[in-house]
Amino acid sequence: MSRSAVGVSPGRVNLIGEHTDYNDGFVLPIGLRWQARVDAATRSDDAVVVSSSQLGETIRVDDLSPTPGQWWGYVAGVVWVLRQRGHAVGGVDLRLDSQVPLGGGLSSSAAIEAATVLAVDALFSLGLDADELASVAQATENDFLAIPTGPMDQRASLWCTAGHALLLDCRSLQGTQVPFELPDDLTLALVDTHSPHVLADGAYGERRTSCHAAAERLGVRALRDVTDPAALEGLADAVLLRRARHVVTENARVLDAVAALEAADWARFGALMTASHASMRDDYEITVPTVDQAVDSALASGALGARMTGGGFGGTVLALVPTDALEDFVRRVSDDYAARDFDPPSVSTTAAEAGGLELRARLRA
Ligand code: ADP
Ligand code: MG
Repeated sequence: MSRSAVGVSPGRVNLIGEHTDYNDGFVLPIGLRWQARVDAATRSDDAVVVSSSQLGETIRVDDLSPTPGQWWGYVAGVVWVLRQRGHAVGGVDLRLDSQVPLGGGLSSSAAIEAATVLAVDALFSLGLDADELASVAQATENDFLAIPTGPMDQRASLWCTAGHALLLDCRSLQGTQVPFELPDDLTLALVDTHSPHVLADGAYGERRTSCHAAAERLGVRALRDVTDPAALEGLADAVLLRRARHVVTENARVLDAVAALEAADWARFGALMTASHASMRDDYEITVPTVDQAVDSALASGALGARMTGGGFGGTVLALVPTDALEDFVRRVSDDYAARDFDPPSVSTTAAEAGGLELRARLRA
């Protein structure tokens, strides 16, 4: 008789700490209320059969091998990674149903990898620990789909807990829970700017190369190891200096943001968000007019802080808005976008929600 199991894991958004991951630095994501769910059932053969409710497609794979560029790889690739690592995973039906918006920078990919590894772990009683679950989910993206993403997304999806942000050290891969409970009079707004990530791939590689070049010239293993911005004056190249300055100051801002959250100092937290945005705009040069406009509209509506989140060149803006100014903000950002002929933005709100491991514990309770 066939057995079944379920895995559920959310999308994520990074509160602060952008382009710090590949510099061995710090990031600070929260889990979102949009979740991916995978229902897994054993089969009598060795095939992996994957379906997506959103796409209305079902794919049967008999011989798994790394396959970039296919949606089903985010699900079936998990089985491939587990088998590569010596786990006894037989044939399996994997039914995916996800609410996480695709490609909006909220990490729909990590949510479905995380939900899949939780479901398969339960179905075959693998007993993987929190580190291994995250490692398998990340390896799915890196090794099956050949996408060189960093360590944040899958750990955020799995490890985040309700009412907390996750401080992740991208060198040690240690996660620390930091309180993130907004008072009623403050709301965290997410603005989807609906701007495509034009040129993002080449620019991303160029930023990575600059950071590694700067670290080499400064004689450190990674820019994470530079804590005094004055040390950057040794960089003769003005562009390299600006790129490195973003990373060094951004790492410091993440740690300052953690201190602000621990003190429930929301004004300070908001100011750090806005400073992070200015650094991405002026030093890292990864913002575009639509995201800059959303930040300006938020601040003009009385937001305590606002910043682009994600890799850049479009995507989502986060704003910490007084709850009684939320309506004004939505109206203002829509009007400001219309005045500049930008596509209308969409605004939603979120709190810090449970990640996949906490959701599993709740399901079992
Ligand atoms: P992000 O993770 O920021 O949402 P990615 O490009 O990393 O964007 O991942 C999006 C990809 O994940 C989609 O192109 C698709 O291949 C896959 N995906 C996400 N959600 C689903 C879904 N519900 N059904 C099928 N594939 C999905
Ligand atoms: Mg992704």
